Amino acid sequence: MKNIANQPYRVLARKYRPATFEQMIGQDALVQTLTNAIALGRLAHAFILTGVRGIGKTSTARILAKGLNCEGADGAGGPNMSPCGTCNPCNDINEGRHIDVLEMDAASNTGVDDVRDIIDGAAYRPVSARFKIYIIDEVHMLSRSAFNALLKTLEEPPDNVKFIFATTEIRKVPVTILSRCQRFDLRRVPVDVMTHHLQTIADSEQIKAAANALVHIAKASEGSVRDALSLLDQAAAMNADEISEQAVLDMLGQVNTDLILKILQACLNGQTAAALDLFATADACGAEPDVFIADMLDNIHLASLIAGGAGSSDQPEAQSQMLTAIATVGIARLGRAWQLLLNGHREIKDAPNPKTAAQMVLIRLAHIAPMPTPAEIIKSLPEAPMDAHTTQTPTAVLSSEAPRTEADPVPTQVAPTQIPQTETSLVETDIPSQLANEKSSPPETVFSSLQDIVISLNEAGEKILAARLRQHLRPVSLTDGKLEVQIDGDVKQENFLSDLARFMSQKSGQPWLVFQAAQGGGPTLAELDQQAVEQKKKAAAEHPIVAAILEKFDSAEITAVNLHNAKDETHSNDEVKNA
Ligand SMILES: [Zn+2]
Repeated sequence: MKNIANQPYRVLARKYRPATFEQMIGQDALVQTLTNAIALGRLAHAFILTGVRGIGKTSTARILAKGLNCEGADGAGGPNMSPCGTCNPCNDINEGRHIDVLEMDAASNTGVDDVRDIIDGAAYRPVSARFKIYIIDEVHMLSRSAFNALLKTLEEPPDNVKFIFATTEIRKVPVTILSRCQRFDLRRVPVDVMTHHLQTIADSEQIKAAANALVHIAKASEGSVRDALSLLDQAAAMNADEISEQAVLDMLGQVNTDLILKILQACLNGQTAAALDLFATADACGAEPDVFIADMLDNIHLASLIAGGAGSSDQPEAQSQMLTAIATVGIARLGRAWQLLLNGHREIKDAPNPKTAAQMVLIRLAHIAPMPTPAEIIKSLPEAPMDAHTTQTPTAVLSSEAPRTEADPVPTQVAPTQIPQTETSLVETDIPSQLANEKSSPPETVFSSLQDIVISLNEAGEKILAARLRQHLRPVSLTDGKLEVQIDGDVKQENFLSDLARFMSQKSGQPWLVFQAAQGGGPTLAELDQQAVEQKKKAAAEHPIVAAILEKFDSAEITAVNLHNAKDETHSNDEVKNA
């Protein structure tokens, strides 16, 4: 800062606060609308200004207040949008001491009593000015009762009273209030306009700055003039000679959105090395891994909005262009990236080394992103597979055969239930009848298979015994009152077999003996279940769609198969997971 230090230093944001609409940048549409309204004599009683913080809402409110009350240099002027800045009302409003222009911050005056003062005051004529003007900042913070009180005045406003509301969160303002206000949306200042503005101020303050340095500041400010000027202040204070590009990047300390977007794009293009290189840059800037991933999530969200057809008007132009480019990968891919990053974000918080965890997330994203989506795979398949599938399912085979049995009135419904009876072993089909017997004569359970015993144990709450049996008993023989088994593995409980015999005797009402054999045992129940799952997986892998997925993805594997009965098999629900 090369200011001669005669007067106290004023921060740039305050010093260059616009006093007229001409000095205000990036809000041409707002100025034009207001100018037209004044020219046509159609001024609203209440205005509401909305936009992100630091964008000029309060400045606009004050300029508007001046414009409404300006008397012109000759004291004879009317309302205009180029307030003279020299008449008494202009001067007093500039200095914040006009008796008829009252500013209130709703953030600290939320209650109905605070609003009551305004409402009472509004009943009186202005003391000296044309209009009594109430500027209420952060109006969304008002309580509901305060809004209600205010509403009465807004419904029948005195002629010489104007309200100017400002808010960062327009959605929190009740629609009853909004409907009585003329609304102005203050846009983020575009990067090129902001850069030019910064250059003008730097010149007049004799601050030397590299052009790119100002561009970075303009980008980092995300359209807020106040933030941009604060950053320029900071950079100037830290760099006596000239503000270099690197100095600004170091000062920002954060990963700028550009870099985030570049990393995102590299990942979505499958360029792992490029993504990791860029991440190294981000890391060198001191990026916090979880904040970094959260930023990526934010940008995926923005790109998805664009891909979904929503505009991107609220973004700086350069970013908007990159987001639009990213959006071209389509909603399906963006959604997949979102999921992956979201999981990654959780992992990073738990990871002993967040930086390496973030790298892993990027590698995974770059690996998966270019892969076709399930919808694309199905689309790329030849037309035949759906037919091939249905002819393979037992349901279809049976239902096509069913009409031959003329006597059967509803062949397709009966057919599936016949499958287990004809195709599976006796042991399994016996189970329902055994259960039915048990219901009619509760104390006597018949054990004809290990499965029977497990069911009975589970029903009796003997979960541990049941689990041991499933895992460790290899059946050798099971005849009336005598079970011979081989024990597989190390079973800790010594009384296992005698406990089992006692349980079976109690349940069946007849004495059971359980012997341990040295050899000759069949597979355990657990092994049988595992075999069944493997068979299902094998069958699933032969399904044309699943086979195509497995072929397209080297690392894909079937991790689970939902076991259905035959009737449901057309809705095959195999989960294919990328390792
Ligand atoms: Zn004036």
